[in-house]
Amino acid sequence: MPRQIRMSEFPEARPPREVWTFTEDPVSEVQDDEVSVRVDWVSVDPGMHGWISTKPSYMPPVQPGEVMRAFGVGEVVESRSSRFTPGDWVTGFLGLQTHGIYRDRHIRKIYPELASPELFLSGLGMTGYTAYFGMMDIGRPVQGETVVVSAASGAVGSVAVQLAKQTGARIIGIAGGQEKCAYLKDVLQLDGVVDYKAGRLDEQLLALTPDGVDLYFDNVGGDILDLLLTRMNYKGRIVVCGGISQYGEMTPSKGPQNLMRVVTHSLKMQGFTMKDYMSRVPEALEVLISGWKDGSLIFRQHILDGLDHFPDAYEMLFAGRNNGKLLIKV
Ligand code: NDP
Repeated sequence: MPRQIRMSEFPEARPPREVWTFTEDPVSEVQDDEVSVRVDWVSVDPGMHGWISTKPSYMPPVQPGEVMRAFGVGEVVESRSSRFTPGDWVTGFLGLQTHGIYRDRHIRKIYPELASPELFLSGLGMTGYTAYFGMMDIGRPVQGETVVVSAASGAVGSVAVQLAKQTGARIIGIAGGQEKCAYLKDVLQLDGVVDYKAGRLDEQLLALTPDGVDLYFDNVGGDILDLLLTRMNYKGRIVVCGGISQYGEMTPSKGPQNLMRVVTHSLKMQGFTMKDYMSRVPEALEVLISGWKDGSLIFRQHILDGLDHFPDAYEMLFAGRNNGKLLIKV
């Protein structure tokens, strides 16, 4: 029997454990221009917090009773679309479920002959594209510059640091805990790492950025963004990719205290979502696939087995218990 995880109501507290409902409902008949898909992998993303909130965002929220939105990959098992045949592999918002029916224009093909399907949810998927466009199109690091990335060992951060390093810039990663910092230093070969959970963040950062910071790729917001503002060089750039330190709050987050640095040091600060870049996905995919094939890009994945793990998985992101792109094998 097909299984689903639904959001029963908008959460009133974090973590939103009580809103997840497990159901076993049959899927409907496939109609014209639709396909039926067996979902094999789903992605667990910090962005989900925004999809279960009524705050205005870049896309409408999931409605109470609906299957929870999630990126996924799976195999087409039945098709009434001219675009897909059974056996094709597809990705898109497949949702937290074992099977689903989708409009053909809402999904796109992936190519398992190029790489195994789950990679199209990590380094070769949305988080890889986010790192590529955020770092290379907005941040544009230059040889010799000092670049700092927060949540640097995570899905987006770990790809962003590797792409920036290839430009010849000096890369400092911020992460929580010894294991993640060792990964950044020993495996990804960063020039310096800051363990924000070890305390004295300001001293650690100062020691590693004696000439200031030219580019900050922000995944976390909050106090770390505030501190980085004080280290930015004249005409520095801040790429605002996310603000995970603020996602747990039900109340609106406070703005940074050091925002005036943007004025006094002529900084440029730019946010983005992948919505801005969907037409350029093939460009990102080409760079990421070739880096992955020649070994110059490493994609770390944290895999959990079974849809039932979703409530725990979602909380792992905010406690920093994931090591790399968090995925569930359905
Ligand atoms: P990650 O794989 O990086 O996992 C989240 C990590 O965030 C945790 O492992 C943890 O790492 C860190 N973290 C959690 N809470 C805090 C905190 N309070 N302070 C500092 N760090 C914290 O997730 P993603 O790579 O998928 O996402 C990273 C960011 O990118 C998020 O903000 C997300 O919203 C954003 N994003 C933006 C997109 C866009 O289009 N703009 C698209 C995709 C993601 P640690 O142990 O190091 O603390």
